[in-house]
Amino acid sequence: MKKKVLLVFAHPDDESFAAGGTIAKASAHGHQVFLVCLTSGCGGKSGSLDIRSREQLAAHREEELQEACSVLGISDLILYRYADGTLKDEDNDRLARRIRDTIAEMKPDIVVTFPPDGVTGHPDHIAVSEATEKAVAWAEADYLPGTLPHFYYVCIPHYYDHCQEKGPRPSCRLTGKVDIGDYRSEKGRALQSHKSQVYSVNRAYPGVMQGDFSVIGNYEYYALARAEGKAVQPGDCSEAKGPIPVISMW
Ligand SMILES: [Zn+2]
Repeated sequence: MKKKVLLVFAHPDDESFAAGGTIAKASAHGHQVFLVCLTSGCGGKSGSLDIRSREQLAAHREEELQEACSVLGISDLILYRYADGTLKDEDNDRLARRIRDTIAEMKPDIVVTFPPDGVTGHPDHIAVSEATEKAVAWAEADYLPGTLPHFYYVCIPHYYDHCQEKGPRPSCRLTGKVDIGDYRSEKGRALQSHKSQVYSVNRAYPGVMQGDFSVIGNYEYYALARAEGKAVQPGDCSEAKGPIPVISMW
């Protein structure tokens, strides 16, 4: 059965870094994929591009995101256009209500966002995680029994493999990994769309901007955080605790 997948992220490029392969796979299998991007990334770097204002950067990053969405097969891009870097200062319940409204409209079967540590510790990511978790719990009232959405954190245990400094360990138990082996080139091309983010891409995925996608792994990792209207109890997240099962998610 065709499913609807909603991803909720903070910045243009989060979708490609975190879940590009999963998105491309979902869309190739005929599922409908929606992306909420809360900011337009005006606080980010502009790489080597000649960009003079935050407004110009935001507009440019929205274009890059549109390109990534078409590479990945995202059918609806929903831009909330908050200012980059300000999400932690917003009333989190207000953010959550806005996300809940989007969930009520789209009625996704699967919702994906950052884990509570935001993967990178970025305050925008942490605020989005918190707001999305609340929004999913509130939105459950709008679903018929037996159709409640599954809510996942995207976790990136290998995100920092190529970085000099190590990132925080994921704070959640990994409950499954999606095999993206056939969708590595879509993920690579989506990352390439974010040309202004060349430094971040080079740091996490060296070679990709130059067309070498060999650094992109075969899996993207997730933790099921909520299902059947209940929080799934988080546990230990180390891979050493046992093999992480391959999941289909939809
Ligand atoms: Zn981000």
